[in-house]
Amino acid sequence: MNGSQAWLEKDFYKALGVGESATEAEIRRAYRKIAQKYHPDRNPGDKQAEERMKEAAEAYDVLSDAKKRADYDQIRRLGAQGGGFGFEGGPGFQGSVRFEDFGDLGGIFSQMFGGGRGRRRSAPRGEDREAEAHLSFDDAMQGATFAVALPGDAPCDRCGGSGAEPGTSVSACPVCKGQGIVEENQGLFSIPRTCSACGGRGRQIEKPCATCRGAGTVARTDQVRVRIPAGVKDGARIRVRGRGGSHGGAPGDLYVVVHVAPHPIFGRNGDDLTLSLPVLFTEAALGAEIKVPTLDAPVTLKLPAGTQNGRTFRVKGRGAPRVKGGGYGDLLATVNVVVPDKLTPAERESLEKFVELHAVNPREGLGV
Ligand SMILES: [Zn+2]
Ligand SMILES: [Zn+2]
Repeated sequence: MNGSQAWLEKDFYKALGVGESATEAEIRRAYRKIAQKYHPDRNPGDKQAEERMKEAAEAYDVLSDAKKRADYDQIRRLGAQGGGFGFEGGPGFQGSVRFEDFGDLGGIFSQMFGGGRGRRRSAPRGEDREAEAHLSFDDAMQGATFAVALPGDAPCDRCGGSGAEPGTSVSACPVCKGQGIVEENQGLFSIPRTCSACGGRGRQIEKPCATCRGAGTVARTDQVRVRIPAGVKDGARIRVRGRGGSHGGAPGDLYVVVHVAPHPIFGRNGDDLTLSLPVLFTEAALGAEIKVPTLDAPVTLKLPAGTQNGRTFRVKGRGAPRVKGGGYGDLLATVNVVVPDKLTPAERESLEKFVELHAVNPREGLGV
């Protein structure tokens, strides 16, 4: 349903109980009356009141805005003439007001109770939270599900979040007149401060809820299961949308910082795994078929004769799983020539024979 269609099907004037020629002030008064009667804080759990309030809020959103009201009036005129109109991308109102959107209408309520000065006060976005996940190297290679315990607040069941004992009354805070904030004069400036009488809630509670003691919320630890992708790197931050803190506005995000324990033999370079491959000096000189470990079955590497220390061999597709794009990195095996630290007399004799045959000065290039 596009916006204009949604508008056509609704009678915003009727929703506020005003005529089509109602003035701005009349519209505001009408809405104020409805809001005082049907506001959810005064009718906890009353679905009908909630519906009525939503209707009125939506109507007020349009009719209190000269530009939106003009668009709406035009749509109604065109609609009455038999339809066939189409406003591409028409008015900015999409469907019905969700109740969560009330953060934005908070200013209207403040205005109502405060009688005059309007202040649009919408709840700030909640803060981002951070949790840490410690994984073994193997878990990081295979992917894992990690449970994060998130201490937080949940709306109190007993009072539905109002903080008032069910059946008792809630009224506008007399100190801030329902605004939740008070102006404090400091010389030339007046600085808004959270009202200390009501803690910024703008409401006075006759009798606080027995469960939450008036807070409207109770402590609750949430378990969030976070999927950690195969191939995750040490230090990666995984974002879980909407699981951060919330203060009535949009929630922040949860970031899970991943720590991956080192592997006893493999290192990591991006999606490639690295390995220091010990090779006997004789294997390096003569060439050999040697077994190289990988994350799964070992592979056989044909080491060419005359392999130098430090040479790196690439084993395709035997690295870490790629988090993005699929597939695997490579295994980079770097030759580490091992020289025997002890020789038996027979070994020594045969090496000395080799020296006689191998009359090469490896430092010739250095001029010595
Ligand atoms: Zn107050
Ligand atoms: Zn409660």
